[in-house]
Amino acid sequence: MIPCQHRRPGPGNTPQFSKVFVLAVILLFSANLLAQTPFQFPTANHYLYVPGAELKFFAPTEPDKPWTSGSFGCVRDNGQRFHEGLDIRHLQTDRRGEPTDPVMATAAGTVVYINRRPSLSNYGNYIVIRHVIQGIEIYSLYAHLSAPRPGLFVGEPVKAGEAIATMGRTSNAEVIAQWRAHVHFELNVLVNDNFASWFKIASPGERNDHGEWNGQNLNGLNDREILLQEHNPNGFNLLDFLRGQTELCRVLVRATNFPYLKRYPMLVLPNSVAQRQGIAGYEIALNYNGVAFALMPRAPSEIKSPAKYQLLSVNVPNALANPCCHLVVKRGGRWQLGNEGLRELELLTY
Ligand SMILES: [Zn+2]
Repeated sequence: MIPCQHRRPGPGNTPQFSKVFVLAVILLFSANLLAQTPFQFPTANHYLYVPGAELKFFAPTEPDKPWTSGSFGCVRDNGQRFHEGLDIRHLQTDRRGEPTDPVMATAAGTVVYINRRPSLSNYGNYIVIRHVIQGIEIYSLYAHLSAPRPGLFVGEPVKAGEAIATMGRTSNAEVIAQWRAHVHFELNVLVNDNFASWFKIASPGERNDHGEWNGQNLNGLNDREILLQEHNPNGFNLLDFLRGQTELCRVLVRATNFPYLKRYPMLVLPNSVAQRQGIAGYEIALNYNGVAFALMPRAPSEIKSPAKYQLLSVNVPNALANPCCHLVVKRGGRWQLGNEGLRELELLTY
């Protein structure tokens, strides 16, 4: 028998320590209240937060490819091809080796689109949910699903963390092997409500089976960065994140009335000259994958060129570091808007 030991008051029991401890708990608690974590992981896989465990979180494109090929950005084909979301690995399978992970809504929102015809999209079966966070509309997308939850319907409100589907391997463009079964997860801004009619004109003869919920109308945010920032003690703020995008280029457009201005008024900057004289166009800052994150109205007297779209400046290091979206291209020693850049501006201002 071990004799009873007298409890000696260790440092943990001194009144001074208790005070410090209580204060620390209060500070931590209030920091938690201030730090916002609007987005949750869409599956039970949280290995993103385990240092060195990236390969348990991301599904790379091939077994010998780095984990980065399953992350967001210019990560495919030696940096030449864009991947607009995260490929999050499965954690569980059935007897046949098929993934069975529940896929969950990243935040409270409303289901706006369910594609149940996998042969009609490289996303396969996919779901889009609309969220309003800090007054900002964000659209999450979950792709390659085996099946949406039975009974799930467009217009249905969902809670954060609510199961909406089962993970799968569906796609009309690629064969996703069992070992790399994943959910492709995006957080997006919506470019234009009139996408479907624009697409008819911009891509004659091409099919669009998904209305405005075509992936081309959803501009991806770096969701790896968002989830990492949420884990950071400094926390995450969606508006700061959007406004803090690195500028690829600045353009001037002659358009004055397009849906994005109304959808994202928090990204429109003040300009007293335009306020006095009227608005003749917008100066727009774009990041490398085309997200418009700062839009300043310009007065007639501030616009010299009659051009519909004018490239004002290029952040060359950013353009060289992110060569996969081709919004701006260098031709004959001069930077200019590439076809992709013009297409993005046409859709934005349509
Ligand atoms: Zn993917």
